[in-house]
Amino acid sequence: MRSHLLNDTTADVYRRSATEGVERVARRLATTRGPFSGVTPAELAPVVDAVDLDRPLGNVRAALDELEDVYLRDAVYFHHPRYLAHLNCPVVIPALVGEAILSAVNSSLDTWDQSAGGTLIERRLIDWTTARIGLGPLADGVFTSGGSQSNLQALLLAREEASPVDTSQLRIFASECGHFSVQKSAKLLGLGPDAVVTIPVDDERRMQSVVLAAELAACRAEGLIPMAVVATAGTTDFGSIDPLPEIAALAAEYGAWMHVDAAYGCGLLASPTRRHLLDGIEQADSVTVDYHKSFFQPVSSSAVLVRDGATLRHATYHADYLNPRRAVAERIPNQVDKSLQTTRRFDALKLWMTLRVMGADGIGGLFDEVCALAREGYALLAADSRYEVVTAPSLSTLVYRYVPEPSGAGVSPEDVDRANLHARKALFASGEAVVAGTKVDGRQYLKFTLLNPETTAADIAAVLDLIAGHAEQYLGENLVHA
Ligand SMILES: *Cc1c(COP(=O)(O)O)cnc(C)c1O
Repeated sequence: MRSHLLNDTTADVYRRSATEGVERVARRLATTRGPFSGVTPAELAPVVDAVDLDRPLGNVRAALDELEDVYLRDAVYFHHPRYLAHLNCPVVIPALVGEAILSAVNSSLDTWDQSAGGTLIERRLIDWTTARIGLGPLADGVFTSGGSQSNLQALLLAREEASPVDTSQLRIFASECGHFSVQKSAKLLGLGPDAVVTIPVDDERRMQSVVLAAELAACRAEGLIPMAVVATAGTTDFGSIDPLPEIAALAAEYGAWMHVDAAYGCGLLASPTRRHLLDGIEQADSVTVDYHKSFFQPVSSSAVLVRDGATLRHATYHADYLNPRRAVAERIPNQVDKSLQTTRRFDALKLWMTLRVMGADGIGGLFDEVCALAREGYALLAADSRYEVVTAPSLSTLVYRYVPEPSGAGVSPEDVDRANLHARKALFASGEAVVAGTKVDGRQYLKFTLLNPETTAADIAAVLDLIAGHAEQYLGENLVHA
């Protein structure tokens, strides 16, 4: 069993085993025809359940053979040009090399004495990101497990900065298209059930700053405390970017912490042509970025950035065994002082490798490509009488729904909802493409999240034909026409 431990005597086993694992994935990429096999939980669960975890196979090759059946054959493949569903990106190879290295060396980024150069690399990338945002000389931040955790940490800092007598008085303002992690964070932070005030959006799904102004005024009039305004730079469904300069001005006027959730829109920070869409983000007190969404990084890779690094002290606790108080005086860089996590992956290495190989323009150029593709997709949808599309894309998502021809009189809105839902499920079951779904004003819609520069307008057109086919078939079979 010692031969399975990575050390100086097993370097060859490591080399061979890792290569075999890589080979399986490479073969899958070369041979899978669709993004998904269409397998159902009922079909796959028995295969996974049949594995006897108490009877090891003894070698990597046998385990990989088994893995073909329990995972690789039926995984959902984000690299495929017809995977158009969620905010998952195909990943860049330099980042994958980083991933292989960081898990083998297994640095933990909580303290200098568990990471050394890893800590310095993370700090450089935090500085690189805050500079791109324009947060100023005192800025700092830390890598996190994802946007949800980044939002939680940002709101924790905001709560501490508000230093209320009574936390039930605190209010957070976010658009109705904001991410649900804002609500979850409010709950985790012990705020009251009414803590999150939802601000309506305009036709382009951007927060209505006029309503925000009114709600802030009402908050003050009621003697409540405006703890934070969360602006979303790239809403999960629509990619819409809230009016950042207006929101910044209102947050400043009311003394509220301004958080920008750029989990999705952060790709614009590297964009050679679209960076201006984030104008105003430099006024934030904190920013969430998900490199694992629009920087083509493997999960997980995310960060929370703050204008004033000193505010990170709200997450600082000292443990004698780990990061004693004296380490601060000795200027030993212990990232755990800034993080909600303790043991923490060296995710920063993936971004480092990416920037060192491709550069910011390289990665931002890829994001630009998918934003341009979304424009093409919008034109296709807008010109297609079978579809109704909600709004022109700011980033790379399209929300639309199949609508029957006018001859489909007698088709109720509920029937249309069901036809769209059916089309999505039927497409998934076919494995030919994967799209997402969402609700808009209570009605069922479908969604493309375009994050693959290999996807073409022809792919989009083909998937729209498939969806229409499934929806028409559903209506044909389920409606009795008078
Ligand atoms: C995805 C997303 C999040 C959550 O990020 P995770 O990395 O999934 O935790 C937060 N905000 C927005 C706008 C998102 O799109």
